[in-house]
Parts: sequence; structure tokens; C-alpha cells
Amino acid sequence: MAWFRNLVQLSSLKSSLRSRSATTPFPNTQFVSILQFSSQPNSEPTRHVPSSGLGPTSSKEKPRVVVLGSGWAGCRAMKGLDTNIYDVVCVSPRNHMVFTPLLASTCVGTLEFRSVAEPIARIQPVISRETGSYFFLANCNRVDPDNHVVHCQTLTNGANVREPWDFEISYDKLIIASGSMPLTFGIHGVEEHAFFLREVHHAQEIRRKLLLNLMLSDVPGISEAEKQRLLHCVVVGGGPTGVEFSGELSDFITRDVHQRYAHVKNYIHVTLIEANEILSSFDDRLRHYATRQLTKSGVRLVRGIVKDVKVDKIILNNGTEVPYGLLVWSTGVGPSSFVKSMEVPKSPGGRIGIDEWLRVPSAQDIFAIGDCSGFLESTGKPVLPALAQVAERQGKYLAEQLNRIGKAGGGYANRARDMEFGEPFVYKHLGSMASLGRYKALVDLRQGKEGKGLSLAGFTSWIIWRSAYLTRVLSWRNRLYVAINWATTFVFGRDISRI
Ligand SMILES: Cc1cc2nc3c(=O)[nH]c(=O)nc-3n(C[C@H](O)[C@H](O)[C@H](O)COP(=O)(O)OP(=O)(O)OC[C@H]3O[C@@H](n4cnc5c(N)ncnc54)[C@H](O)[C@@H]3O)c2cc1C
Repeated sequence: MAWFRNLVQLSSLKSSLRSRSATTPFPNTQFVSILQFSSQPNSEPTRHVPSSGLGPTSSKEKPRVVVLGSGWAGCRAMKGLDTNIYDVVCVSPRNHMVFTPLLASTCVGTLEFRSVAEPIARIQPVISRETGSYFFLANCNRVDPDNHVVHCQTLTNGANVREPWDFEISYDKLIIASGSMPLTFGIHGVEEHAFFLREVHHAQEIRRKLLLNLMLSDVPGISEAEKQRLLHCVVVGGGPTGVEFSGELSDFITRDVHQRYAHVKNYIHVTLIEANEILSSFDDRLRHYATRQLTKSGVRLVRGIVKDVKVDKIILNNGTEVPYGLLVWSTGVGPSSFVKSMEVPKSPGGRIGIDEWLRVPSAQDIFAIGDCSGFLESTGKPVLPALAQVAERQGKYLAEQLNRIGKAGGGYANRARDMEFGEPFVYKHLGSMASLGRYKALVDLRQGKEGKGLSLAGFTSWIIWRSAYLTRVLSWRNRLYVAINWATTFVFGRDISRI
């Protein structure tokens, strides 16, 4: 742990200071000791990656597990892998995991961004310190199952660096955990004008836009209609993410905007547009409660289908025009272009098809978990919902399977061909939760929509919601950040006063 390492370093620095001061004639002993302390030769072996990538492992090396993606599924798998058996290589376009259930709270400043982002090197420390284990900031764009190779392309920001370049990594076992993409149903203008809410940088962009609109609405020369538009926040999609974001936003408006930006309080509004019912996977009673609660907090619920999105307005299929200043799109997820490009059998819905052991049956040593995968029709099992709880449990299960196979000598490529894979993966739904803002939430612990079980709404559910997510946050460091952010927001209100 970092605090323990720092303590050890500090105490060795102190004892070094003490022994130096007894022997050295220099008055500035502290300066000398710090120099000596920091110039100690590094005994750790240097890590060198060949420029072309990583070739096949030899019998002198550990077998290599390559993980594509650093989300719920990939990170949980990496965390569970036995690093005495395997080297771990992660390829992902982001170097952290996002704790998505709390992402909406960062858009309005209830939580800070770092509270929901967990660096990968903290989840699986070997990738930053052991020879043979690495993290590469890149996208995988092709899998070659015949040669056990993945083809990747680096991520660069284009400024003062080379153009992106390609490299290859050989794998012994491959875990595809590359997630999904927001669904836009091909509606014109969504990609260009709407914000998605999946990554920390999305939440940063939303927060920036919200604040910018708040500021712009008060400068001289703004017409009444333009002010109304700038301060109209529209959310499309009434699933848990859309509802939670609308709830956070309305809570922010009633608790913080009304006090600190009093001049706009009669202008700022939230509209939630949904084609069917909001929170359709929740029980009827909870859905009605959510509808009442959102309406009470000033969220306008509109039933409609978006036909077109312009730079400043949405057009619904009944012809209604809805001007907006901020548009957040949250209408579910589907397969990414990488998944679509893979030439493997697909599950209903177009995800990578897997069997009950999470294997891609058409290829040796390839597994797929999380939102990018779905049971093949031939398994007779339904495609599991795109949820963190599914992804996390699949990651845990797969790490256990691979550890078992590795211990039995099946870690290298093609060595597990005839091995028994043990018990298949079984998913048991633990329930769903959604916060509604204003200290209210829904907790639905039923197994399915028609199943029996506890379902609650209100303040107690909100306490359960917060406690459950606080305990699920990955590290003690982020747990502390989240708790402190919640406490300071409660006492001082949200702070989004800086762009
Ligand atoms: C705002 C929000 C709130 C949510 N709330 C909840 C909730 O309360 N409860 C719940 O159960 N679920 C929730 N979900 C759903 C949950 O976050 C997802 O189901 C979960 O993230 C899926 O995990 P995953 O690892 O499959 O994909 P992700 O977590 O999306 O991770 C995919 C990873 O793959 C990387 N990647 C993408 N393409 C490539 C490529 N070509 N090569 C390499 N890497 C690639 C991505 O950068 C990312 O690191 C929420 C989702 C969102 C967006």
C-alpha cells in the first residue's frame, strides 16, 4: 500500500539523517541525505518492449494473458489472475477504470472526477512493475485467432507526436472485454450534437457545457428565447442512466442553482424524453414513484421519439420542436465497430458469441466477457443485460478458470484444448437500483420483472443506494474520496464554479 511504502521510506530517511548527522561535518545534512537517498541505484530489472510488439512466449517465460479493455469486466479479470502463473498485458484506449454507476454525479459536481476513476496500475500492480506484464494505451483493431496475435494501434493526440502506429502482441490466452457503444439508431445529428455519458471526459464536457450555458445566459445582448434555450437541458432515454442524470441535474438546480445563480432560476429546466415508459425494467409501483418524484423536482417527462437533432433543437416524430442548450443521449448500448468487424459467430443482438464457459467456441484460447459478449443461441441461454454486475462477475469467474487451467499446465497457447473447464458460468441477478435526486432512490431486489422479492422507494432506498455503491468502489482511496465529496456537497453544496 502506498501509505505503508511512504512510511517505510520516511523512516529510512530519518534514520539515514540521524546517522549522517553523527558523522558528517556539513551543516546541511538533510540536503546531503536526500540526495543520497534519491540517487540509490534501482535494483528492479529494466523493462524493454521490442518496437514491433511482443512475440510468442517461450517456455522460459510465463504464459501471457492479453486483456482487451479496462472496464468492469477486463479489470476484474486482471485483478483475479494469478500473476505467479501468468504475465498480464492490457490493451485499452484508457489507463483507468470508470466506476460508471457514480459517473452521473460528477457532471454536476456532487463528486469529483478522480473519485470515480481507478488507475489500472492500482487494480493490477504487476503491469507497471514486472518484466513481461504491460499496459499499452492503444486500440485493438484485429484479432488473428490462427496465429494467436492481436493487431493494435496506438492512441496519440496528434499534437507534437508521431501519427498513430501499429504493433502486434502474441497471446497465450485472450480476454476480449472491449465493452459496447451508445446506440443512436442512425438518427441524424446525434453524433454531432449530443453528449454521451460513458467516460470521465464525457462527464467533464457535460459539466463544462452546463457551466458555460449558465454563464452565457447572463451576458448582455441575450434574448429571452435564447436564454430559455441555453438553460434547457434535455435528456433522451428513460433508462436508469437517463433517470439518474435527470435526477442529479434537477437536484443541482433546486439546491445549488437557485441559490447561487438566482437570476436564472425561472429559466433553467430539465426535460426527459422517452419513447415508452421510463425505467421499464423496474416494478410498476417503483416506476410510478419515480415519475411522481421526478415531476415534483421539476423534470418535464415527454413521451416521444426523436426524429432529427439539429445544433439547437430536437425534432420529434410528431413534428414538435424542442430547443435545447445541453443534450445528453442515453438510449442504450450496442456492439462497437470492433466487435462488428470480428468474424466469429454472434449472439442475438450482434455481440461476440460465447458458450457457457465464456469461450468463443470458434477460436482456441479466446474468451469474451462483459457488454461485448452474449451467449450463443445454441446455449439456450438469454443474452445477459449490459450491466456492471454481469461484467464484474464474468471477469471474476474467468480469472478463476484461467488460474485453474494455468496451474494444471494449460496456460500456454493451445495447451488447454482437451482440458475440462469445470462448472459453467451462472448469473444470478442481485437487483437494480436508481437514484432520483433529493435523497430519494429505488431499490428493486427482484430476480426479474415478474419475480418475487423486495422493492423499495424513498429515503431508505437512497441510504441503501449510497451504502451499496460506497462499498463497491474499488479502492479505499476512492472510497474515501467519494465519502468526502458527499460530505462536502451536503455541507457546502456543489462546486462547479470553474471552467
Ligand atoms: C453512466 C452509466 C451508469 C451505469 N450504471 C450502472 C449501474 O448502476 N449498475 C450496473 O450494473 N451497470 C451500470 N452501467 C453499465 C455498466 O457500466 C456496463 O455494463 C459495464 O461498464 C460493462 O463493462 P465492460 O467491461 O463490458 O465494458 P466497459 O466498462 O465499457 O469497458 C470497455 C473497455 O474496453 C475499452 N475498449 C473499447 N474498444 C477497445 C478496443 N478496440 N481495444 C481495446 N480496448 C477497447 C474501453 O476503452 C473500456 O476501457 C452504467 C453505465 C453507464 C455508462
